[in-house]
Amino acid sequence: MKLPPFEYACPTTINEAIALLASHDGEAKPLAGGQSLVPMLAFRVASPSLLVDLRKLAELKEIKIADDGVTLGAMVRWRDILDEARLRTAHPLLVAAVEHVAHYQIRNRGTVGGSIAHADPAAEMPGIAVTCEAKIAVVGKSGARVIDAANFFQGPLMTALKPDEIITEIRLPAWPAKRRFGFQEFARRRGDFALAAAMLFYDEDAGSARNAHVGAIGIADRPLRLPAVEQVLNGNTIDEAVIAKAEAAASASVDPDDDIHAGGAYRKALIGVMVERALKSAAA
Ligand SMILES: Cc1cc2nc3c(=O)[nH]c(=O)nc-3n(C[C@H](O)[C@H](O)[C@H](O)COP(=O)(O)OP(=O)(O)OC[C@H]3O[C@@H](n4cnc5c(N)ncnc54)[C@H](O)[C@@H]3O)c2cc1C
Repeated sequence: MKLPPFEYACPTTINEAIALLASHDGEAKPLAGGQSLVPMLAFRVASPSLLVDLRKLAELKEIKIADDGVTLGAMVRWRDILDEARLRTAHPLLVAAVEHVAHYQIRNRGTVGGSIAHADPAAEMPGIAVTCEAKIAVVGKSGARVIDAANFFQGPLMTALKPDEIITEIRLPAWPAKRRFGFQEFARRRGDFALAAAMLFYDEDAGSARNAHVGAIGIADRPLRLPAVEQVLNGNTIDEAVIAKAEAAASASVDPDDDIHAGGAYRKALIGVMVERALKSAAA
């Protein structure tokens, strides 16, 4: 389908990008890889008057790995994450999740910031951000601010971003070397959006789990942490009995709607199975 008409700008500084976004009464939109925005234009789900292409903003393309964590520039692509070998130890859960994002061509263009801003409830990166307590750095005409991932996602394709703001960075807290983790996703075909996925990590003290973080996507209008599952894990050895309790707690924690892809009852059962498998792989 043909796209609706729009103006196009390709700024070379962040300030210029913000000024352009602020100049169109909320009708301008940033363009990252176009992997969600262009289909939305084609289907008339969005019809912005101006597209502000972020591709020349080199400072948004950096991956920084430091003692206090991993910082992903908003224009870092899925391919960049998979190609950065240091991330396999600096943030293995992130890498495990990104391996499930879309297909080869889309991973070459799609970006971390675009995914976070798009806020698809079944997308992996928003799930990782919520599960890992990421901070999302944004900048707009009234200055810079940092938003906790827990407060960023407000519903399907809805976020705390203002129309003149762009995401600059996603900051993930440091990842201890011995941390245990698991990521499990069920999709119709590999690379399709998840029907449901579970992502989790925990640290260990004398054989018992502590600091458990469990997240889920595809089962609500936004990515969720599952505190009832974390409670089952913390203070316990992750054995068959605890895993069974965690599976039941995961299913009981969610109330997904029916949609064209799956019934709510199916997704409710599925997220339990995903948590079970993720825990088994974490404990192995
Ligand atoms: C066939 C297909 C399958 C896919 N499967 C998956 C999947 O399994 N999992 C998954 O997670 N994703 C999937 N995607 C989406 C893909 O991961 C995209 O990378 C992602 O949606 C973001 O696209 P983009 O980076 O190209 O952003 P764009 O499409 O350019 O932009 C998306 C939205 O974000 C806004 N935006 C972009 N950058 C910024 C920024 N820095 N600050 C503020 N707003 C910004 C845009 O204005 C727009 O509203 C799939 C896409 C396709 C076409």
